[in-house]
Amino acid sequence: MPRYPDRRSALRAGAAAAAGALTAACGAGGAHPAAAPASPAPAEPAPARPARRPAVAPRRFAGQPEEIAHGPRTRPEVALTFHGNGDPATARAVLAEAERAGARVTVLAVGTWLDAHPAMAARILDGGHELGNHTQRHLALNDLPEAEAYAEITGCAQRLRRLTGSIGTWFRPSHTQHATPLVRTLARRAGYPHVLSYDVDSLDFTSPGAAAVIRNVTGTIRSGSVVSLHFGYADTVDAMPPLLEELARRKLRAVTTTELLTP
Ligand SMILES: [Zn+2]
Repeated sequence: MPRYPDRRSALRAGAAAAAGALTAACGAGGAHPAAAPASPAPAEPAPARPARRPAVAPRRFAGQPEEIAHGPRTRPEVALTFHGNGDPATARAVLAEAERAGARVTVLAVGTWLDAHPAMAARILDGGHELGNHTQRHLALNDLPEAEAYAEITGCAQRLRRLTGSIGTWFRPSHTQHATPLVRTLARRAGYPHVLSYDVDSLDFTSPGAAAVIRNVTGTIRSGSVVSLHFGYADTVDAMPPLLEELARRKLRAVTTTELLTP
C-alpha cells in the first residue's frame, strides 16, 4: 500500500489544479479542455507494473439499457464514479479517503492522463477500485466526426490494455451526461457493451466549495445511484470524508459500478 500523501500538500496541489477549473468538466456545460498545463513532470512513483491481477473485461449486463445511469433501487448501494484527470496528488488523496472509509470507486481515466501518470492505473486497481475509459483527450465526444470519435475511444482503450491487460470495465463519454446513438455504437464497436452515465451530479468541477459538493450529492442520492465526481479538485478531496460519513449514516454502501449492477 503506498503511503497516503500529506493532506495539506494534496490540497495545495488541488488549489493549483483548480486554477484550470472547468477545463476538465464532464458535463455538457463544461468548456473545451485547454491543452494540459505544461507543468514540469513530477517524479512518478514506480512505472506501471505489468498487471498481476486477472484482467477484467467489460461485460453486458442483462436487462440493463445500453446507457446505464443507475443501478437497482432495491439495494442500499451506490457507485461513486470519478473523471480521471488532473493532479495525481488529488487523485491519490481521494482514493485514500475512499479506502479509509472502506469504499470502492470507479475511475474513468482520460488517456492523456494515463500517458502522463501511468502509475495511477495500478494505484487504482490495487486499491480494489474499477478503472475505465473516459476517452483519449476528453473532447466534446458527441460533436466529433465518426472516425475521430472512434479514435478517442480506442486510443484510451489501447492505453488501458497496455497498462492493465484490459480495455477497462466501463466507458464514459467526455463532456456529456448522455451519449448520442452514434457514440453508443462506436463504444460497442470498441468493446464496451454499455456506456456509463450517472443520475447524481456533484458539480465538483465548478469548484463550488466542499459543502456544496456534499449538498449536491446528498440532496439527490438514493439506493442505486451513480454519482459523477472528478479527480483534480480540492473541493472533492475535502468533501470525501463527510460525504462518506453521511452515506454510512444512511447505510448506503459505496461499491464499484460492476458490484452495483451485479445481482
Ligand atoms: Zn470528464
